[in-house]
Amino acid sequence: MVSIIAARHVVRLSRRMRLFSTTVARDAEVKRLGVVGAGQMGLGIALVAAQKANVPVTLVDSSQKSLDKGLAFAEKLLAKDVSKQRITQEQADTVRDLLKPATSLDSLGEIDFVIEAVPEIPELKFDIFSKLAQICPKHAILATNTSSISITRIAAATTQDPRDTSNSSRVVSTHFMNPVPIQKGVEIISGLQTSKETLDAAVAFCERMGKIASVSADSPGFLANRILMPYINEAIICLDTGVGSRDSIDAIMKNGTNVPMGPLQLADFIGLDTCLAIMKVLHTETGDSKYRPSVLLRNMVDAGWLGKKSGKGFYDY
Ligand code: NAD
Repeated sequence: MVSIIAARHVVRLSRRMRLFSTTVARDAEVKRLGVVGAGQMGLGIALVAAQKANVPVTLVDSSQKSLDKGLAFAEKLLAKDVSKQRITQEQADTVRDLLKPATSLDSLGEIDFVIEAVPEIPELKFDIFSKLAQICPKHAILATNTSSISITRIAAATTQDPRDTSNSSRVVSTHFMNPVPIQKGVEIISGLQTSKETLDAAVAFCERMGKIASVSADSPGFLANRILMPYINEAIICLDTGVGSRDSIDAIMKNGTNVPMGPLQLADFIGLDTCLAIMKVLHTETGDSKYRPSVLLRNMVDAGWLGKKSGKGFYDY
């Protein structure tokens, strides 16, 4: 009886929510993609979308310098693919022509799907989503590549009136793994307001990009980082407390679990600042001491030893 009442309530609620919601783009209707942020992740996402899903991509970055750097890097990757005969010169030219650089969000007025990949700063993402909700067509899916910020909070930034879900229901996370052209996995995360149509469209579009989607709840760290970061953090604690040397730790995990690199080398590749930021989110959002960031990790970030990107981490580069 209770479940019948609950089911009726859900039907009534979803009918009421539909009063405000609009029909989002289904995968087949995604004819033009927008990507915001042409850094490490945004560029990879734009490149793979152009290459695999064959869609024109408007690549927006507030910095012309980042755009130039990103496009030069794309050129390099395409040239490498041609030289290794993975693609023809003609295919490389087609992909290049599909990438349309821009410096203003206003150029996203005709896209069907947008993926945001700006730095992991909550206020920056909230501001961008409130603007995307106004600029992008009403059917467009608004996706974020955040590593750790709540999708529900990002979705809430698209509306002044929480009862109006017409914008927040089309917000979702497509959390690509780094480097995007190589890693097959992508996490798809719904916020509380995300509609099923939006979730399905995000899964379908990522599959069109050749990715394998895993659906996760909107919970601190989602799935990938909830599992990966405590593993890396524990490896750093083992090093800090003398349980094993750097090389012993990386060797046993590499040779014992058949992964391409050990946890300390992987931390260097991800960036120790990023690892620390995610551990802090896990720790503060759950209040669980098992997620406390290691002292050595904090110290290394304070020293500016961020891993590969700064030339020094657990290894020298
Ligand atoms: P990045 O610093 O390499 O790139 C961010 C880009 O955003 C820069 O080019 C910057 O100029 C641009 N930008 C800054 N403010 C902007 C604005 N207002 N409008 C438009 N562009 C703006 O960062 P990244 O490593 O590509 O990370 C981007 C997002 O992806 C973050 O949310 C991060 O947590 C997430 N992520 C990163 C990784 C990783 O391993 N690096 C993996 C998965 C997810």
